[in-house]
Amino acid sequence: MGGFFATAQKEDCVFDLYFGTDYHSHLGTRRAGMVVYGKKGFNRAIHNIESAPFRTKFDKDTHEMEGYMGIGCISDYEPQPLIVRSHHGTYAITTVGKINNTDALTDKIINSGSHFMELSGGTINATELVAALINQKDNIIEGIKYAQDSIDGSMSIMLLTPQGVYCARDKMGRTPIILGKKEEGYCASFESFAFQNLGYSPMRELGPGEIVVMTPEAVQTLAKPGTKMRICTFLWVYYGYPSSVYEGVSVERMRYNCGAKMAKRDMENKPGADIVAGVPDSGTAHAVGYANESGIPFSRPFVKYTPTWPRSFMPTIQSKRDLIARMKLLPVHELIDGHSILLIDDSIVRGTQLRETTEFLYKSGAKAVHVRPACPPIMFGCKYINFSRSNSEMELIARRVIAKEEGEDVSRDVLEDYCNPDSDRYHRMLDRIKEQMGFTSLAYNRLDDMMEAVGIDKDMLCTYCWDGRE
Ligand code: SF4
Repeated sequence: MGGFFATAQKEDCVFDLYFGTDYHSHLGTRRAGMVVYGKKGFNRAIHNIESAPFRTKFDKDTHEMEGYMGIGCISDYEPQPLIVRSHHGTYAITTVGKINNTDALTDKIINSGSHFMELSGGTINATELVAALINQKDNIIEGIKYAQDSIDGSMSIMLLTPQGVYCARDKMGRTPIILGKKEEGYCASFESFAFQNLGYSPMRELGPGEIVVMTPEAVQTLAKPGTKMRICTFLWVYYGYPSSVYEGVSVERMRYNCGAKMAKRDMENKPGADIVAGVPDSGTAHAVGYANESGIPFSRPFVKYTPTWPRSFMPTIQSKRDLIARMKLLPVHELIDGHSILLIDDSIVRGTQLRETTEFLYKSGAKAVHVRPACPPIMFGCKYINFSRSNSEMELIARRVIAKEEGEDVSRDVLEDYCNPDSDRYHRMLDRIKEQMGFTSLAYNRLDDMMEAVGIDKDMLCTYCWDGRE
């Protein structure tokens, strides 16, 4: 994933840029960068944030930077923002999104006489490719439109020029951009809460495909929003921060709604749990919603050790990630021993961590572990926003079970049947997952319930991970 923040002010903007970008730290774990433009031109800093938080890494830079406009990003992949010299003049650019047709686009650009730097591992920097596409056209607006039209996937862009900051939301609005304003100027942000403590008040969200240019004096629309939207539903379910609001819907509120929906479904067939708990922190809000609706007390049989694990440190090796996830959690034995626990997490991806957690609960004396993931079984890898918690679809627990039942070559019709919570195949799949994971009972949130928990027009939601709908 990744996130970004931009600001244009009548006075120095470095303080706002530093904190506004830092508030996106939950969206990426590898790289971060800031660029400002002021009297001395462009000034940029990029750091690796795998071993230390954003603020620690950029603290020194803020004393050296000055400027009245800036963009900053947290990135899971390529180093950015990039500074580009082109026929549009010099500009800085940062992006959030995913390009599925990198090779075809790269060849096209190379054939037109340009070249790319290779990243270690032989890949091309996606932001550099976006800049190269923008540079194919006569002006920046046409260039951004051309890039977004050419890209198979999704691409939101912030581009800093001496004249202003261009902000472009991806064509289907899979990821958000919200504008804020205060007396001194404006900001644009992936996360709505990132500017609250900086004195900005929310203005409005950009629509899908909308392009604006922001200066210290005004925000002007350069390309009107499209009518079709598919905003990522996982924003609410998992990776948005609890204080975030997308399309007017609070993340925390949506998670309570999800929990309540699952509790209502359980009313007919009560699991008989003594306590409701969430895997911290991803399942906590969903568990609060379940507890409030069901009347079963909310409890915290695990806590996260935050003093030395303040952020989502994510090693690239999966076995190490699992180990780190386990090390962060500490049990409260008194709340586990002899209890029947209803455990909620946002989702089950590969299943490794939840199986270990369940085994641990039994070893600590739990009588039963009923599991309620807050979203349906994940069937497809995200092809829009680089939101990936598994390396391939065949790592997904649901797909592994289906492959065992049907073989690896499964037709789309059969997969669709597995996505249907009323089908026999779906229930067979759940039984297999339950057995493999050692759960006492397992019921996933239904897709229709999850969409209702968001509460906006269902056609505006991307649900590709769960039902393959494009
Ligand atoms: S495929 Fe899933 S993670 Fe990707 S944008 Fe759609 S809902 Fe979000």
